[in-house]
Amino acid sequence: MEQNEPNKPETQEITEGLAKIKTLGSVFYNPVQEFNRDLSIVVLNTFAKDYKGDSQTVWEAGHKYDDGISILEALSATGLRSIRYAKEVKGVKEIIANDISIKAVEDIERNICDNGVEDLVVASHDDATMLMYKNRKERRFDAIDLDPYGCPSIFLDSAVQTIKEGGLLLVTATDMAVLAGNSPETCYSKYGAISLRMKACHEMALRILLQCIEAHANRYGRYIAPLLSLSADFYVRVFMRVFTSPKKCKQTLSKLSMVHHCTGCGSYVLQPLGVIKTNEKTKQMKYGLPTRGFPNICEHCDHPFHVGGPVWNAPLHSPEFLAKLLTEIPENLATFKRIQGVLSVINEELIDAPLYYTLEQLSGTLHVETPSMGAIRSAILNAGFQVSYTHMNKTSIKTNAPSELLWDVMRAWESQHPVNKKRLVENSPATNILKKERKFEVSFEHHEGANPQSKKMGFLRFQQNPMPNWGPGTRATAMVGDNKLEKRKRNQGKRKREAST
Ligand SMILES: [Zn+2]
Repeated sequence: MEQNEPNKPETQEITEGLAKIKTLGSVFYNPVQEFNRDLSIVVLNTFAKDYKGDSQTVWEAGHKYDDGISILEALSATGLRSIRYAKEVKGVKEIIANDISIKAVEDIERNICDNGVEDLVVASHDDATMLMYKNRKERRFDAIDLDPYGCPSIFLDSAVQTIKEGGLLLVTATDMAVLAGNSPETCYSKYGAISLRMKACHEMALRILLQCIEAHANRYGRYIAPLLSLSADFYVRVFMRVFTSPKKCKQTLSKLSMVHHCTGCGSYVLQPLGVIKTNEKTKQMKYGLPTRGFPNICEHCDHPFHVGGPVWNAPLHSPEFLAKLLTEIPENLATFKRIQGVLSVINEELIDAPLYYTLEQLSGTLHVETPSMGAIRSAILNAGFQVSYTHMNKTSIKTNAPSELLWDVMRAWESQHPVNKKRLVENSPATNILKKERKFEVSFEHHEGANPQSKKMGFLRFQQNPMPNWGPGTRATAMVGDNKLEKRKRNQGKRKREAST
């Protein structure tokens, strides 16, 4: 590779999906996000069909349709995503690829020409929020994609107003440290909710993001209906439709919960902010506040709680939409196997059991040998409750069983695999949990539902990151002409090299 002159960034050529783009090294491109872009294409195709009805039967990708969908990519960087949408989404009317950086917009314009999608994609040089505010009355979009570096919250107020009725909002957040509990105070200032450092932190992140978008939508009498929510690599991504109904906004309170999380054993309890009672005869809804109180200390281990939230406690996805998605994944997508695997696991997730435990959390708390997933899942199913994985963790236990049942299962496990008594320090969670009597009958006998269908089918269910340069990358630096991505590449493995010399 040729040595670059100082401050003269190298041109990268990238082929992804049906798009071929050129970009200066200083404009942000993250190859790990190919999965994100592939999945977004599948979602947009399925959404467009649903949204526009039967006219789609004649639609082809790469052609302009006056009755097709309009898409705004508010933070476009290289234009890659918009160009891929133009070439791979069926039934597009127009796509606006916007960026605040003039260098990025020059890239976008060149890439539009190189890919021959001038009739479908228009480059725009504007502040994303200003662009959306300018269009919120006269020219709303059928789909708005927000894929920022970091937190999307500053774009939400304008986005929820600029999306058409029933339109699709696609939002990424990459500030996972904030959302996953490393900085609850920052999370509150950005998302209006307190994050917690808990095993289910990735789902907590999704639920915080959804409540944040719902709060923005509610201000304008609108509400969200999530189609798909996922946590992957270093980001979370949510897909939802946005509708208008001030009446439905009243239901938001009952779609939100505070999360009480035990600092000792990690048990959690959700406390909804509102309750709805429906009159059987008149079907009229009555809104109220819950009266249920919580004890100051955990009933299992006698340790105190942290309180986080509010979080979205309603479903993270639409089962009907997921079922359609699963039949519409083009096999030629580079990340086909991963999309198929992740969507299959999501399709099996219990929809009305927010958050989850992990296997190691349960055994680690008690300092006992870790049981197999099959044993734990069988015990829960044998007790008459439901259990599923989540796509976020390969040892996750999502269940509608009370936490008491889980600890009973672990007490039963411990009676068969006794803990080293030296590890039972006075007043530790393990000591306090093991001291309590079992209430449920526990059987570890193999249950046929213990092995999920997606596993039997051999799908790629939990892909780890195989890429170099893994991570959210560096913020786009086109504005300052710096070249951090290059520096990052040069520094890859530098510590290792230094250590080995
Ligand atoms: Zn506890």
